Amino acid sequence: MIDLHSHTYLSDGELSPEALVARAQQLGVRQLAITDHDSIAAHRRLAPLALDGNGDGLTLLSGVEISAHWEGREIHIVGLLFDLDNPALNALLARQQALRHERAQDIARQLDKTGITGLMTYLAQLPCESVGRSHIAGFLVDAGHVGSKQQAFSKYLGKRGRLQSSIPWCSMGDAVNVIREAGGISVLAHPDRYAFNRARLRRLLAEFAQCRGDALEVSYSNLHPEKLAMLGTLATEAGLWASVGSDFHTPDNSWMDLGRIRQLPAACADRAIWYHPRWSAELPANVPAVSGQGM
Ligand code: AMP
Ligand code: MN
Ligand code: MN
Ligand code: MN
Repeated sequence: MIDLHSHTYLSDGELSPEALVARAQQLGVRQLAITDHDSIAAHRRLAPLALDGNGDGLTLLSGVEISAHWEGREIHIVGLLFDLDNPALNALLARQQALRHERAQDIARQLDKTGITGLMTYLAQLPCESVGRSHIAGFLVDAGHVGSKQQAFSKYLGKRGRLQSSIPWCSMGDAVNVIREAGGISVLAHPDRYAFNRARLRRLLAEFAQCRGDALEVSYSNLHPEKLAMLGTLATEAGLWASVGSDFHTPDNSWMDLGRIRQLPAACADRAIWYHPRWSAELPANVPAVSGQGM
């Protein structure tokens, strides 16, 4: 099994990097990419453990999920197999971290005005490096202002929520370039979550390919089989490789667990991302070949 999209508590996941790796091993994942939002802190923390295809059978791949802008909308680009020490990549992530912090401060000021105080103090005691809306949702739940994180998004933090604070993320081209400069592969994440119509999605894929993006996330959690087939076809049409990833955040969502992803559709099976030339060049020779993964 292979899972190329997952989060730890260093962004908005629930598990520590160590617990995430242990869960992946338990569930039979052989290749795992941790892809925290705009953060590679988990990789720095786990590097000394050297999970490089050893006896435990789990290979950890470098990964990150970069928030970016395209046509005024937010999209997510996963980077894989890059050099963790690349200066341009680290500079871009540091800038996005700072923007995330400024957004949190802006939202804290908006909340203060409505009499809800204490957001920054709450955030300061969390283990995350990358502060996100999910943490702010947690604050609103803990303080008793909403019943669930879902409600926090619909009432406060979502597109039509009361708290609005947009971040000038990097452009799609910047994200792709920096990942490539760092020797990595870029993947356009969860394409159906942007609520784009088919024409706009095709345009996005064409532009992503044009700026030398590598792959489309074709199979991920909770994706209807018909959509999976459609994404397989779109990836092939755009000349992109096909990636897979659960987007795991928490053990509480049984439908979004590590490695629980459908196999790639036939249309793009021979374009699976693990056949990408940079994949075989980067991974140690003793990694078992991955032919697919089941539900
Ligand atoms: P951010 O990158 O800080 O703007 O936050 C985006 C993250 O918030 C996503 O990666 C999800 O984990 C989470 N998220 C976005 N929308 C929702 C929602 N409606 N309900 C729960 N979590 C959400
Ligand atoms: Mn998230
Ligand atoms: Mn995402
Ligand atoms: Mn994600």
